[in-house]
This record gives sequence, structure tokens and C-alpha cells, in this order.
Amino acid sequence: MTGTPAAFLDRDGVLIEDCGYPHRPEDLKLTPGVAAAVRRMNQAGYRTVIVTNQSGVARGLFSEDRMHAFNALLVETLAEQGAVIDAVYACPFHADAVEARYRHADHPDRKPNPGMLTRAIAEHHLDPARSFIIGDQPTDIEAGRRAGVKGFLFAGGDLDDFVRETVGL
Ligand SMILES: [Mg+2]
Repeated sequence: MTGTPAAFLDRDGVLIEDCGYPHRPEDLKLTPGVAAAVRRMNQAGYRTVIVTNQSGVARGLFSEDRMHAFNALLVETLAEQGAVIDAVYACPFHADAVEARYRHADHPDRKPNPGMLTRAIAEHHLDPARSFIIGDQPTDIEAGRRAGVKGFLFAGGDLDDFVRETVGL
């Protein structure tokens, strides 16, 4: 036993609807079944870790503070439904950033790179071999592969049904 299993969760298109750079409170539209899905992962003994690319920061669409506030609102909204998110990792960097501090040709955290996952694995003593990632993009699955974590591509619908039927929890 080398660590705790984790469920790595993409945010936009998995936990919430992807309306295009969601960041305002009114953009928070939960995916059907999301609270039940997260509760299922909690009960199965998985650490739940959000891993989200947020190039909207780099593109100057919203601030890093706004991004953190929006993520906190998501975590709080799920908590109100008994669904626990253990950690959130977000990558604000992008090659086309308007602000130099967010400009990076190929940041190690930006999926398909595995930086957010490998950092979470180290910081939370997670076991990649017993973990999985759910994403709505091939880049999510690739980030998982590079971190030694198996991936499940979510095409929409009820997330709890997906976690039960496809992930097998
Ligand atoms: Mg996504």
C-alpha cells in the first residue's frame, strides 16, 4: 500500500457545464448527478481532486482571484450537498497569454502535461495505479496517462450514472 486512491476530476464539461470560460457565480451550472457522483467517490475511499486548465486567466478574461473564488464556490456548493472535494489544482498559464507572468509555451501544469496530477500525488500521498481521471477532452486522458493514472472520457449526461456504470464504483 503506497498511497490513497484518487479521483482526478476535470472541471468544465465534467463537474459543471462548459459555457466557455465559466468564472461568474451565475456561470456555475452543475452537471446532472455531480453531487451524487462525488459522494460515491468519497464513500468508496477516493480523494477527490479537481485538475483544471484555466487559460481564461492568461487570456485576460478574468483574474486569478476570480478563478479561485469560483472554484471555492463550486467546492462549497457541492459540500452543501454532502459531496467533499479534497483539493483543487488550476493552471492559469497559456502560450498566448496577454500578461507575461502567465505566458508559457508549454507549462508543465497545463494538460495534457501531468504537472497538476503529479504534484497532487506527491502532496497528498496518492497512489496513481489505483486512481483515475474523468475528463471531457482527450488532453485530460493524456495528462492521466502521463501520470500513470487511467482515464475515462465523459461525453455528457448524468455523472453519477457514468461513475457507476463506466468507472465501476
Ligand atoms: Mg473540460
